[in-house]
Amino acid sequence: MDLIDYLSGRIGVRFAGTENERKAALCIAEQFEKCGLEVEVDTFRFMGWELLEKPKLQVISPVKMELPCVVPIYSAPTSEDGASGKVEMRGRHYNSWYRELTDKEKYAIVNDDGEDVGYFLAVEEESLVSGLGENPQFTVSMVYVGKNDCKPVRDLLVKGKKVTAELSVKSRFKPGAVSRNVIGTLKGKDSERFVIVSSHYDTVYDSPGANDDASAVQALLFLAEQFKGETPPYTIKFIAYGAEEMGLLGSRHYAKKLIEMSMLDKVIAVINLDEIGVETQNHKFRASNEPLKSTLIEVLKRLDVERRIGSLESVVEDFPMKKVTISWNSDYAPFVQEGVPTISIGGEDPKTHHREIDTSEVVSRETVIFKSEVVRQLLREIFVGEIKPK
Ligand SMILES: [Zn+2]
Repeated sequence: MDLIDYLSGRIGVRFAGTENERKAALCIAEQFEKCGLEVEVDTFRFMGWELLEKPKLQVISPVKMELPCVVPIYSAPTSEDGASGKVEMRGRHYNSWYRELTDKEKYAIVNDDGEDVGYFLAVEEESLVSGLGENPQFTVSMVYVGKNDCKPVRDLLVKGKKVTAELSVKSRFKPGAVSRNVIGTLKGKDSERFVIVSSHYDTVYDSPGANDDASAVQALLFLAEQFKGETPPYTIKFIAYGAEEMGLLGSRHYAKKLIEMSMLDKVIAVINLDEIGVETQNHKFRASNEPLKSTLIEVLKRLDVERRIGSLESVVEDFPMKKVTISWNSDYAPFVQEGVPTISIGGEDPKTHHREIDTSEVVSRETVIFKSEVVRQLLREIFVGEIKPK
């Protein structure tokens, strides 16, 4: 089955906590079962969120103009009649979720009582997409606007002119939203210790997520098919996580469970795949420690990565450890944080990342197969070399 087609085309947007996300989980569970895996669908609850209407940001004075904008996930709704007032520059946005001072210019809309009632962040055009913007504990109304569109506002403020604006965000928090991790187990000779091969199947609220990350769910299926009928030396757990785009909720939920059950030391290694299938994308392979890193490089050389994807120097890099703090980037983070030997295969395609055009056609099946083969050979090496957790 072509899961990329099915997930991104037939089901489409699979935002965490929605019926489409549930459908995707059930479809993946069914496919895992067909590969002979023992399947568990692990349900968890979280603070959900939904966007009810397109946001609207308007400059009211000294000139009237509308600024096209995008709502980050977890942005709070503005009050019924919108949020209006004078605009103030507030430096650069600090993303408390990622603990990172970003290069996004921050603007506040301040009402007559002196209260901040909304924010807009001026971002590079290629970053004008949905995604996590702010930790949901800060229930602020916030949108992104393109730097070019925002320039007239900036120029006026820099000249000391008074600018007023109005923002409307219609969104809703959903306590007790439900998501699921789909876990397919292939029992090994050692049934206690296991390797996790993972990806996520949810999407942001406005993208069908073919490359992000149906491409990698497909890779999981390829691998499960290849290992069908085998009893590897150690158990393999193929995991399709839910709610990754909401802040790595599926993988954090799973890692937490392992920690609570004193099972984290049973994890030999984690191999996570996210955004793997656009031929011209930025391809990244990362390993958390030795001997995994040398093993990864050896496998990539053997598979002629230079010819297929790009030079070793350009595709292999270390984890940005400073940023792998609360959560960062993808479902490997909760494991890297705990010192579990981890490999991440991913990257980004700015042209399609978190956009409506991340459809089945942009994904090269050959690239997905190539990376699946990298994982297959890594698993073989890990099984032979018995790479132990710290
Ligand atoms: Zn992703």
